[in-house]
Amino acid sequence: MNIKLVHLLSRRTTALVAMFLVVATATSSGLPAFAAEKDTKIKLVLQITIDQLRGDQPLIFRERFGEGGFKLLFDRGAYYANAHYCHADTETAPGHATLATGTVPARHGITNSEWYDYEKGRIVYSVEDQNSPLVDQNSVSTAGTTSSEKGRSPAHLLSTTIGDEIVLASFGKARSIAVSGKDRGAILPGGHCGKAFWLSNGKFVNSKYYNDALPVWVEEWNQKKVADTYRDKAWTLLRDKQSYLRKDIDDRSFEGYYKHLGRTLPKPLACKNDEDYYEALLHTPVNDELVLSFAEHAIARLGLGLGEGTDYLSVSFSSTDYVGHGWGIGSLEAEDNLLRVDRNLAELFSFIDRKVGLDKVLIVLSADHGVAEIAESMKGLSIDAQRIPSKEFRAYVNARLKERFSTEHDLIKTFIYPYIYLDRKFIADGGIGAGIDVVQDAAAEYAMQYQGVAYAVGRSRIARGELPANTGYYARIVANFHPERSGDVHVVPKQFVMFGKVKTNQPGEHGSVWSYDTYVPVAFFNVGVKPGFYRRSIGPQDIAPTIAALLGIKSTSASSGEVLKEIAE
Ligand SMILES: [Zn+2]
Repeated sequence: MNIKLVHLLSRRTTALVAMFLVVATATSSGLPAFAAEKDTKIKLVLQITIDQLRGDQPLIFRERFGEGGFKLLFDRGAYYANAHYCHADTETAPGHATLATGTVPARHGITNSEWYDYEKGRIVYSVEDQNSPLVDQNSVSTAGTTSSEKGRSPAHLLSTTIGDEIVLASFGKARSIAVSGKDRGAILPGGHCGKAFWLSNGKFVNSKYYNDALPVWVEEWNQKKVADTYRDKAWTLLRDKQSYLRKDIDDRSFEGYYKHLGRTLPKPLACKNDEDYYEALLHTPVNDELVLSFAEHAIARLGLGLGEGTDYLSVSFSSTDYVGHGWGIGSLEAEDNLLRVDRNLAELFSFIDRKVGLDKVLIVLSADHGVAEIAESMKGLSIDAQRIPSKEFRAYVNARLKERFSTEHDLIKTFIYPYIYLDRKFIADGGIGAGIDVVQDAAAEYAMQYQGVAYAVGRSRIARGELPANTGYYARIVANFHPERSGDVHVVPKQFVMFGKVKTNQPGEHGSVWSYDTYVPVAFFNVGVKPGFYRRSIGPQDIAPTIAALLGIKSTSASSGEVLKEIAE
């Protein structure tokens, strides 16, 4: 008998023994024991997302954090130090959707920030919805889209979220609220049943999907004009400069900037143009402070955690993402920002403890994606980092296709990383006498000839499941594939290669299949959660099914993650 079989048998025997035990217990007491009492203990699920927090960062700064923030999760929570996304496009929208739905883009449908819609004949933003105009038409859209559609809703999200399931399980009694500096950071976790609010010009707004007019409690916060109280302030270091790891590298030539926010600290926030002032706040820790203030206001005014059922609150903090893009994850700005994230967490946890009691709250923290160091900073350390200029890449592949198929017609409709979208109608109408599969294969071949591209594959091959066994990232390509939204060719850049402009004021990038982009922290805290520091490999898709298990409700409609059994029993 081989070892595998013995193992299997012994597991089966254990399962059988366990089954008999259950039967025996039920018989001796007369009735099976129900666990209803434990399920009602959690009165509030707080799902925190730190946009762009790579998994190593809390570990690096662990000893430097204060009390009550990350330390609460490290010392008294269940902390996973080896969590990776298993989809290819590691960006804000797919990441938030996975955190909320417990599954991959192939099933929740949010494959990118935006994709090409062949029926509409234009690029579509993941959370746009022309049927749901903004409540205040003067609101501005938070960055992340080239679409001009201003309406917003979760219409493109195909799965229920864990917040939706909490509302459904309570027959509508539970409240689900989602807040963020970014629209997609609120809309996707808010799901179909929740209410999402995001920052626009220093105020929190939403769309008619949620309400005809902003609720009174939201207007109350907006009328306080909290964002305006920063006008005469500056972003300064939280602590003594000498205590910072990066105190000597504040002025690196390759760091970016935003408008009046230069390369070094302190950064005065004052700006004559209002729109620039509010937009610049997003690029600083003030972004998170506004989200924190609004989240606390929501908890207090709505009495979250004090209602009949279990309420759900998603808080997505975006400043880490803006700071990482602008000055790099290795910058003094990023170091100071993370210390401030820790203080904001401590403030939020202590506020909730006073209002609800931490013993009644399930806290879950993770991130939507990681990030790479700025390419130019890695070059200095002998890592061959590069940038692929998207326009030139697209032009190269397009030119080779035209040459190959002897046509003057542009065969590429658009390139939205990681997908090349072909002119499907022209090809289907016999424009070049070759089928779409042939053109996809050719485009993939030319894409792979371009310097910095590791791999490219046509959608027909992905759909047919033709997996080259030797590419570890193939599963991530498949997990990212949605037939209506994914393009004709999926392009994978080499390690430390990023698509984008060569010269940019936002030089930090993420979005690849590589582990610096897929790596995020995952942590749980609740009296019912078994504390511990876990090194086994898990994924953020395991969060929603684990929350469901802890609450004793069903998981989301497209759920595919696993329950983290070692903490949920
Ligand atoms: Zn980002």
